[in-house]
Parts: sequence; structure tokens; C-alpha cells
Amino acid sequence: MRVAFVGGVGRSGSTLIELALGQLPDACPLGEVRHLWQRGVAENQLCGCGEPFAACSFWKSVGEQAFGGWDQVDLAEVQQLKSAVDRSRHVPRLLLRPSSAVARYTELYRRIYTAAGEVSGRALVIDSSKHISFAACLAVDPEVDLRVLHVVRDPRGVAHSWSKQTVRPEVTSGDVYMPQYSAGHAALQWDAHNAMYAALRLRLGAAQRLLRYEDFVADPRRSLVSVAQFLEVEPLAQWQEHPESRVLELGVQHTVAGNPMRFTQGPVEVRADQSWRTGMPRAARITVTGSTFPLAWYYGYGVTG
Ligand SMILES: [Zn+2]
Repeated sequence: MRVAFVGGVGRSGSTLIELALGQLPDACPLGEVRHLWQRGVAENQLCGCGEPFAACSFWKSVGEQAFGGWDQVDLAEVQQLKSAVDRSRHVPRLLLRPSSAVARYTELYRRIYTAAGEVSGRALVIDSSKHISFAACLAVDPEVDLRVLHVVRDPRGVAHSWSKQTVRPEVTSGDVYMPQYSAGHAALQWDAHNAMYAALRLRLGAAQRLLRYEDFVADPRRSLVSVAQFLEVEPLAQWQEHPESRVLELGVQHTVAGNPMRFTQGPVEVRADQSWRTGMPRAARITVTGSTFPLAWYYGYGVTG
């Protein structure tokens, strides 16, 4: 099973990219599969199709095919494995000397990907879990045919987005908000995670590709055609026929967890979110610019953006 992994720091625009890639005729987008156990199996939150996880026929079939039903999975053991291997601080050790626990952990996901491929009849599954430690786990599993799309966005745009309050629509029992972070914390996360993605690239080589959010929003359809080629799947005909259009068509997708944007359907005009340029306090801007140098500069983000 070929797996496309959309990685990078949260709020880098990866949800829209995954939703757009989900329209590829050969692709099956799954959302942030790393959160499936907690948000899907344990808490029965909403799938991208609008149904609660347990009522979604797609995920029901995947669970049956992969494990003989989701109730057959020992969630406590999954949690234990996750804590043992899937943490940012384990990444250097993971890449150098993976343990047998990693293989046990990735086997769970391999079963899900294979079942999702079979149920959907698609050749490529897309996991937009984003986390570097999870990408590293999958990268060291020789049985996963992994392609990593590393999405990077200007750290000031990321930090500004983390400072805003956003409600999670998939939680139906009261208002639950997405986490908010200070500029300093967001900058540290940006720096550490992107540096680890750079390290992962040393291992994956041509199987990892960088996509800057700013380049994607400047020319969405041409960017997607190029990503489809990287993933070795046929691009959408309309992307090639009208490459200058900024409109992307989004449809119903069984994404198990992720940014609230995953519930969007229909045509969406891609616009660059540059609100940080006018809405970000000066002090926060200076903090982020200072603490993400020189990596941000390496990715082409200057002092003024
Ligand atoms: Zn669904």
C-alpha cells in the first residue's frame, strides 16, 4: 500500500492540501489517522462525512477488515505503544535504532491503510497526521511505501493562527476549542519540528518533498499537479486543463480527525491567509522572527516575510 503522509507543523495549510489531494481519482484521504484511537474509537467524534465515527460505514468496514471490528483493538496497549515510541523526543533514536515496539506500533497503521485501500478501491491512502514522530515511525518500517509531503509555512503565519480561538465542530458534546499557543511556544514548535523533518529527509531522500504553503496558495493547481506526480498518481484533468484557476473542488471525505476545515464541501477559492502581516502584535512578530532564525531564512522567509 502506498501511503502519502502530509507532515509539518499544525496550521501550515496542510488540511486544504489534503482535501484537494483527496479529489485525486486514485487517492483515499483518511485525515489524521494518529488521532483515530482517541477521537474516533474512544470518543466517537464526527467523521468528515458528518456521521459519528461508529456510524460511518467506511470506517466500520475498515475496522472489520483490519481487526475484525474496532472493539477488538486494545486501546490501552495502543496508548502504551504510542507513549513508548511516538513522541518528538524519541525521533533521533527512532531514526538511528528503531525498536521492536515501533514495528508493533506501525503494524496497527499498516492494517488500517491496507483495509482502507481495499474498502475504497484506491491505490494511495493519504494520512495527514502531520506529527514528525509518527512520520519517523512509518519511515523506519520497510513494509510501508511512504511518501512524505512536508508542508512549511511562514512561522509568523503559523504562530498568528495558533493565537486565535477556533472551535472544534466534530465534538458534539459542548464547545471544545483547538489549542492556543503563545508566540514563543509556537516559534519553538515550528523550529524543532521543521528541523526534525529536515533530518527525516536525510533518511527518505527522494521519498520526501517540500511544499511551501505560500507557493501552494500562489499557484494551487500547478502545485497539486506536481505533488500528484511526486505521489505517482494521475492528477485531476481539470487541474491540467485550467492550471491558472484558483478554485479547488472539495467533496465528502471520510477524514477521521483534523482541522475543522475538513468539513468543507464544494468549490473553494484558494486565497493566501496573510492576516499575520496586519493582525500580529509587533512583539510577537519579533519573538517569532528571532527564534526561528536561521531555519525560517533557509526556507525563504525573510525578516519582512
Ligand atoms: Zn465517514
